[in-house]
Amino acid sequence: MDILNEPITQVFLYALLTAVATGLGAIPFFFIKDISDSLLGKSNAAASGLMLAASFSLIMEGYSIDQWMTLGGMLSGVIIVVLANKWMEGRAEIEITDIASGKRMAMLMFLGIMTVHSFAEGVSVGVSFASTMEFGVFIAIAIAVHNIPEGLAISLVMVPQGTSPLKAVWWSIFSSLPQPLMAIPAFVFVEVFQQYLPLGLGLAAGAMIWMVFADLIPEALEKCEPKKVGLWVTLAILAMSAFQILIGH
Ligand SMILES: [Zn+2]
Repeated sequence: MDILNEPITQVFLYALLTAVATGLGAIPFFFIKDISDSLLGKSNAAASGLMLAASFSLIMEGYSIDQWMTLGGMLSGVIIVVLANKWMEGRAEIEITDIASGKRMAMLMFLGIMTVHSFAEGVSVGVSFASTMEFGVFIAIAIAVHNIPEGLAISLVMVPQGTSPLKAVWWSIFSSLPQPLMAIPAFVFVEVFQQYLPLGLGLAAGAMIWMVFADLIPEALEKCEPKKVGLWVTLAILAMSAFQILIGH
């Protein structure tokens, strides 16, 4: 059972847990067929707040070691995520011809975008664990809670189109599986090259901040009025900061 105590196993298990948390978002659909748009908008806004708060924790953690390297990391993160997104969009168009059903294509595109999104989160979990174990657990919890509304959003697309709630649970988890898969190389890289830790922290933060404004906030605004989105983003940041004080980080 020694292997369970290895740091790398711990990183994998925590990152896997964040992915499994995405499946929790599908649970309401075992009981109801639909949820209100405004509830989905609010939960997207809360997910954005958690991601923003986690990003700023990563930046502060990086700042405590090397400020300029953290900023360099942020710049690389935003470049990577913008390029990955562009690549993803191009690919999704190529695959259109292979898929007859328009609905299924929409689903695949959605999952593809979620995978690019999960990449940033996986890297942030991995580099956080390379900083300290406690910081890693803190970021993993933030990402896990943030994933629940994302599972909700995925299920909300799938269930009304005839996917069973149980399958929606699996698709939700599947959309987040890149998280444990990305967490490991990110963790190993920063463990080996400890001097680049601020770069890794900044990279994850830059990618996640872009994601919040390019992906999550527009989605929240589609379903919910701006004032409410602002309220839930702020409340989520507040809750996350309070949690950080409570656990004494
Ligand atoms: Zn996410």
